[in-house]
Order: sequence, then C-alpha cells, then structure tokens
Amino acid sequence: MNDSIERIVIVGGGSAGWLSAGLLASEHLARSGQDVHVTLIESPDVKTIGVGEGTWPTMRSTLQKIGLSETEFLTECSASFKQGTKFVGWVTGDEDDSYYHPFTVPAGYASLNLVPFWQGQRDSVSFVDAVSVQGRVCDRDLAPKQETTPEYAAVVNYAYHLDAGKFAELLQRHCTERLGVRHIRDHVTAINGEPDGDIESLSTASSGELEGDLFIDCTGMASMLLGKHYGVAYRERSNVLFNDSALALQVPYADQSGPVLSQTLSTAQSAGWIWDIGLTTRRGIGYTYSSDHTTDEAAEKELRAYVEVLQGVNADSLEPRKISFRPGHREKFWHRNCVAVGMASGFLEPLEASALVMVELAGKMISEELPTSRSVMDIVAKRYNDVFLYRWDRIIDFLKLHYVLSKRSDSQYWIDNRKPETIPESLHELLKLWRYQPPWHNDFSQREEIFSSASYQYVLYGMGFETAARGSAPDSRVAGEARRLFAENSQMANKVVANLPGNRELLTQITQGR
Ligand SMILES: Cc1cc2nc3c(=O)[nH]c(=O)nc-3n(C[C@H](O)[C@H](O)[C@H](O)COP(=O)(O)OP(=O)(O)OC[C@H]3O[C@@H](n4cnc5c(N)ncnc54)[C@H](O)[C@@H]3O)c2cc1C
Repeated sequence: MNDSIERIVIVGGGSAGWLSAGLLASEHLARSGQDVHVTLIESPDVKTIGVGEGTWPTMRSTLQKIGLSETEFLTECSASFKQGTKFVGWVTGDEDDSYYHPFTVPAGYASLNLVPFWQGQRDSVSFVDAVSVQGRVCDRDLAPKQETTPEYAAVVNYAYHLDAGKFAELLQRHCTERLGVRHIRDHVTAINGEPDGDIESLSTASSGELEGDLFIDCTGMASMLLGKHYGVAYRERSNVLFNDSALALQVPYADQSGPVLSQTLSTAQSAGWIWDIGLTTRRGIGYTYSSDHTTDEAAEKELRAYVEVLQGVNADSLEPRKISFRPGHREKFWHRNCVAVGMASGFLEPLEASALVMVELAGKMISEELPTSRSVMDIVAKRYNDVFLYRWDRIIDFLKLHYVLSKRSDSQYWIDNRKPETIPESLHELLKLWRYQPPWHNDFSQREEIFSSASYQYVLYGMGFETAARGSAPDSRVAGEARRLFAENSQMANKVVANLPGNRELLTQITQGR
C-alpha cells in the first residue's frame, strides 16, 4: 500500500486557502519537482469573508518566501505600510489618552531590559518614545523605509494594510500561474470517509470526486471538514473576550492625495472599539463590539459618528456590513489527515491582527513538517496541535491584557472586562509577577512567539502599568549603558524623522514608478 503524502487538497479560496497554497507550493514544488501536488477548490457560491486588512511583520517574509515582488503586492492590493497600532481612549477615554504598540522592539532588547531605567523618567517621556523611534515616525505619517531601501527590507520594522479581496485574487494568480497550484471552482457537497477514519475524497457539484492524502480545511466559519465532518468541538472564549459582532465600512478619502496612516488606529467605544485602516485608495473602518453590551443600531450610530467627526466624511451613503462571530477556536486543529487553517480553526476579535499571522504560521509549519508518509502524520499532528493550542492561549492573554489595564468605567462593557472571573489564570499570574519585575525573555518559551515580551512592555507601560523598583541600585556600568541607549534612541529619532519620506509619498513612488 502506498502511504506517501503527495496529494494536498485545500478547500477554500480566502486568504487562508491561498496563503497555505502559496507556502506549500513554494516549499515543495520548487524544491522537489513533482512529488507534492497542491489543489485548491473553492466554491463559486460561498463568498470569502472579505475583511482582514491589518497584518503582522511576518507577512514580509511570507510574501518573499512565496516569490511575490513587494512592488507587485503593494500595487495590486492597494496596500500600505503598517508600523503598529495606536490605541486611542483605551485607558481613561480622555482627550489626550493614546499610546502606541509599534513593531520595532525596544532599544537594547537583545541584552538589556530598559524598563527599570525608564521608570524614573516616566513622567517626562512615554515608554515608546524613550525606547523606540517609531511612535514619532507614525505621528508624522512617515514611511518605514526610503525609496532606495530594497524590497522587504526596513529602516523601522513594518507590516502592511491590504485590501483582502484584492489580496486573495493576487495570491490566486500567483499560485496558479507561477507555483503550479491546480485551481478548481466548484462547491464541495460531501466528504467521503468515515468520521472515525481518514478522509478519502470530496464530492463536488460538477467536477466529480477529488481524492487526496492531506486535506486542509480553509472553509472559513463553516469549518466543513474539521468542524462538521469530524465534529471537533469548538472552545468558545466569549467569557474572556466579549466581542462577537462587527460592522465594517469602506470609506472613501475626503482627499485622495492626503496622508496615509502608518499605523492602525484603534479607538475605544462604549461596547468595543473601532478599527481605522488607511489603504492607498480608501479607508477600512469598522466597529467590533459585544452584542451583550450594545445593540446593532446603537453600534451603527457610534460608527457613523466616528466616520463623520474623525474622518470628515458624510457616512449617510455608506452601508455597513454586519459580521457575527463566535470568539474561540477548535479543541484541536489537525485530526487524522485533515488540518484546519484560518477561520475554520477559530477566530478572535481583530484587536492585534493576529488571524493572518496564525495562517502564515500554520502554512509554514504544515509545509516545513509535511509528513512524507501517513504512518508519521499523527505524530506531526500532535506536535502541531500542542503548538497551536499554546498560540491561541497566548493570543487570548495578550488581547485581554488591553481590557484588564483599562481604567474606564463609563459603560458596563469596560467594567465587566475587568471582572476577575473573566481573566485567564495565566494572565492573572503574569500581571502579578510584573508588579515586581518587568516582562522579559523568560516569560515566554517559544522560538516563534507572536507577542513577545516587547509587545507586553509596550502595552503595559503605554497603559500606565507600574512595576515596583528593586531595592538595590543597578550596577553603574549597566546604568551607563541604559543612559547611552536612551540618548542614542533620541538622536536616532531626530535623524530618522528627518530622512524618511511620507507614507503616501513613498507608496506613490513605488506603485507608479514600476
Ligand atoms: C470583522 C473582522 C475583521 C478582521 N480583521 C482582521 C485583521 O485586521 N487582520 C487579520 O489578520 N485578520 C482579520 N480578520 C480575519 C481574517 O479576515 C481571516 O482570518 C482571513 O480572511 C482568512 O479567512 P478564511 O480564508 O479562513 O475564510 P473565508 O475568507 O471565509 O474563506 C472561506 C472559503 O471557503 C470556501 N468554501 C466554503 N464552503 C465551501 C464548500 N462547501 N465548497 C468549497 N468551498 C467552500 C469559500 O468559497 C471561501 O473561498 C478579520 C475578521 C473579521 C470577521
């Protein structure tokens, strides 16, 4: 019996399906010739979710790995550079309440934790400005690189904002024309194989039966293979993260040549928060909220008010799209010869754009560890499940952190979010520890953490968290090194700000000069 894994069938043609196809095809087709075949089937009747505009810096290496040019990507996806998130109104809701979670790690991050040294000057300089140049770069809507910086390289770390619909189309063209992925447009009507055995094939509406050795479920919230066929349970996490609804708008620019934001804006509202993302052609603005704490009508009113006041655009002609979701994830993701990626594996509110990075990490691990034989697949599956369960838990902790640190009491939503029974034990423990020592490398154990201690530092100290100073004074050499790093960061900020082009300016140069 031939038990080698050669035929990979991906079901679903959203961002998850095409990114997985690209990662698998580039790893295997390019390297080994003909022994792995990737087929992607997507239904002409079921639309993709069509949102998901904020990404993580990993997207640069993902696009590079699958062989896309950055210029082509930026041009085809109306994409822009994203350097982090600016959180507005999350702590008190006052006029001047905002902080950054940038993508560049703090100065000296590899060897010296600057938090204890910054604490003495916290009233005169924000944590982000003391240890990073990126807040000032974002304040001025500057690009993260210069025109002469090579593709995918950076002056300061960055990811992208992108048009999700155009992104799936570009990936489809690239995967089918350049990476040899076979594409079928057809509706999958049945999954063949016993629920307690491997999947043998898929029945389709008009293309007959499609056989495979490994099936990747990218069917979005339907989770047709892992959820429906195998009945792998969904672990709902709405007891921790309350948001389960979103209203999404595509908003035209009042001035098409105006600045393009270098960061996602996340503005706290009465029952959730509004994302505001600048692409080159339009803005993507949406409100994600808890249906237990507000109504769709009230949420829509808040969203329209935001668009009119902050963006100076008349929102009357814009119709928001409502999306409901169950925050949570499957109990496992790889079962027998089926692995779910993207929304089919779970979804949490898009507060830190963690969904696409999970897709990238999934595609990377599946392609790197692709079992050559069925006989070892269950071992790979177990490892995969352990890694991804860990990742979902860490994302939940990190997202919840933003709510736990808020001091807002102006609506029940913010009050409920701080109730101890809604805080995971793992986060509770870390917060207790961080009262005495700042987050650092030992707090997280994996090689590829999505949110490292650097991210925790930015959010904690951006939101006013206090860590007690050690009784003893630091070694004078170390204190000197900290002073040097602060001074260097300050000089670097002036230099970088003087030399970087505007975000819009560089994007225009790149996309029109090609
Ligand atoms: C409001 C909101 C905001 C978001 N913002 C962000 C963000 O800023 N950053 C981020 O990283 N992520 C974000 N996400 C998540 C992101 O949109 C998704 O993770 C991403 O688009 C991947 O979706 P998908 O491919 O898993 O599912 P989908 O896009 O839903 O694709 C499902 C595919 O399955 C196919 N399909 C379904 N049934 C069948 C069938 N029977 N036969 C054949 N094919 C079938 C469909 O045709 C479709 O092609 C957001 C999500 C929401 C809801």
